[in-house]
Amino acid sequence: MNRSSTRDSLNTIGEFGLIRSLKRQWPASSPGIVTGIGDDAAILKARQGQQLLISTDVLIEGVHFDLDYQTPKDLGWRAGVANLSDIAAMGGTPLYLLVSMAIPVRVPPRHVRELYRGIQAACHPFNVELIGGDTSSSPSQIFLSLTIVGSVRANRALTRNNAEIGDRIYVTGTLGDANAGLHILETRSISHRRSRPSAVETFLIRRHLRPTPRIHVGQLLVDRKLAHAAIDLSDGLSSDVGHVCDESRVGAEIRATALPLSSQLCAFAKRDKTDPMTVALQGGEDYELLFTAPANRHQKVLHVSEQTKVPITCIGEIKPKTFGRQLVLPSGRKHKLPNESFRHFNSR
Ligand code: ADP
Ligand code: MG
Repeated sequence: MNRSSTRDSLNTIGEFGLIRSLKRQWPASSPGIVTGIGDDAAILKARQGQQLLISTDVLIEGVHFDLDYQTPKDLGWRAGVANLSDIAAMGGTPLYLLVSMAIPVRVPPRHVRELYRGIQAACHPFNVELIGGDTSSSPSQIFLSLTIVGSVRANRALTRNNAEIGDRIYVTGTLGDANAGLHILETRSISHRRSRPSAVETFLIRRHLRPTPRIHVGQLLVDRKLAHAAIDLSDGLSSDVGHVCDESRVGAEIRATALPLSSQLCAFAKRDKTDPMTVALQGGEDYELLFTAPANRHQKVLHVSEQTKVPITCIGEIKPKTFGRQLVLPSGRKHKLPNESFRHFNSR
């Protein structure tokens, strides 16, 4: 770590002053933490009968985010949810977080604290505690990396490689909203539009900036042994279904008419002369869950939906590998499921 240059960039309070203020802002209180921020490593209690889940993500300014159209707090929320969602996809309970960052001179410490407020707000409903991180200066871009630690009952985690032929394929929530929201934010930023977004636009923007990690759904799927396989939708449905098929060595049939679309996405896509189904298939960062479950557990899956108040929709079925990955179009014609994401909207 380059201490001296970090001090230059945070010359008012210094690196250690910043870490102290972040620790004050987000004090750790879990009985599972023996030692949190302040030593060379955090010390955590291990729980019997549980396995640890650990996942990490990197976000780079100009590659994964742009502060022209979102606040540091928005960025923090999305970064937090991206990590929480990985734990949700395994059916686990999120516990602890580490935050590493490289910050250029131009970024004031209050923006860093705002960023942490966003991460903290996303983590708050699940009592996730901050246990460490690393801080450095950066020549130009902000670099952010979050590492989350969670737990799950031993040998019960939901993985990508366990889908079985005949399983139904389910998704939570609605698909494609976040992609539309991002498009609206980018367009507004480029055209310097200062007018207030419409109600439809506000909904879609919020779905991009404030996604919800489906922790409770994942946990119930594990507790009730309902699902064979799961993944969270970060790349886009098409490509994420592909990951499950690759890992499980199976094929899949997705019914286009079954895809859950919000009325807001349909309204926006209509105005933009874009096909909302394509957006739902290929738009990323929804952070909804996709899972597979045997057909005879359908009622129990619906019960999870009622209990969590999260819509859960059956969108297709797992097929043999030789079937490939097919999309049944509204006309009944079958098409190969596309496996790349791309830009969908026309307006600029
Ligand atoms: P080291 O020199 O051993 O890497 P640091 O001085 O980087 O230690 O960190 C001191 C303590 O502060 C450690 O407990 C570390 O986990 C924590 N820490 C450092 N940066 C951050 C950060 N950005 N967010 C949270 N905790 C941090
Ligand atoms: Mg360090």
